[in-house]
Amino acid sequence: MTPVPGRKPAMGAHVSIAGGVATAPERGVKVGADVVQIFSKQGQRWEGKAIEPDDAYTFRAETARTGIRTVAVHCAYLINLASAKEDVRTRSLYALEDEASRAALLGIPYLVMHPGSPGDDPEEVGIARITSGLKAFGKFPAGVSLLLENTAGQGASLGKTMEQLRRMLDGAGNPADVAVCLDSAHLFEAGHDLSDAGRWADFKGELETFGILPLVRMWHINDSKSGLSSRVDRHEHIGRGCLGIEAFRHIVNDPVFRELPLILETPKDGVDEYEMDLVNLAALRALVETPAG
Ligand SMILES: [Zn+2]
Ligand SMILES: [Zn+2]
Repeated sequence: MTPVPGRKPAMGAHVSIAGGVATAPERGVKVGADVVQIFSKQGQRWEGKAIEPDDAYTFRAETARTGIRTVAVHCAYLINLASAKEDVRTRSLYALEDEASRAALLGIPYLVMHPGSPGDDPEEVGIARITSGLKAFGKFPAGVSLLLENTAGQGASLGKTMEQLRRMLDGAGNPADVAVCLDSAHLFEAGHDLSDAGRWADFKGELETFGILPLVRMWHINDSKSGLSSRVDRHEHIGRGCLGIEAFRHIVNDPVFRELPLILETPKDGVDEYEMDLVNLAALRALVETPAG
């Protein structure tokens, strides 16, 4: 991927679909987003209301009208391919299939999923369940890729190291339609300090060592309320948490990442749902340096 000189990083936020999925692109416009992420169904439920062809058409038309460049769907948190319970693993596969077909209907290229948690079972058992789940799932619909998200490692959740992500991908046979989404808060909470140039270089080296670097398709760009290696997943506004503003400067200016979608998942605790996204996007854009050449 060759960076286009002068082209700005594509930044945006996770937005609500209250009032229907087709309302999401305009919500993105309200915060000046180039890209948005959504849940494609409401709430913490296994099943969502089916997407009607009319809704899908309107969503696609709204995406085109607003000029939103990329949309991602974040999978429901209930999905756990590593669960100790067989029925949960089975339901997770069905739910993933539903998420994938909803994304395909909406013309959305990225489906973000947390790898899962094996509870009290050992890590390698959890990873084996994830890989067999991905193998059982088979191919994603044309135009849809699954992005495994790194986690804070809260509880027994897997995906806190690049090495674990690598083992999942290898175990699944490195499918062409499975890649990676990095979450900056989760990286920090799992022990990756990105605050100075040396540590940033170390992290990039780690991405390279485990062959993750060429698979990164998107960033979740969040500051963290909890400390380094806390393994506690708490997002915070950009520059107001424990990561330090320099970590964000590295991410938004890195030649490898500067063409990728950067999506905020920070609290919506302003005067309305838009205020803090506007503030956080302004903070990020202020860090962007014009590339030389
Ligand atoms: Zn996530
Ligand atoms: Zn995230």
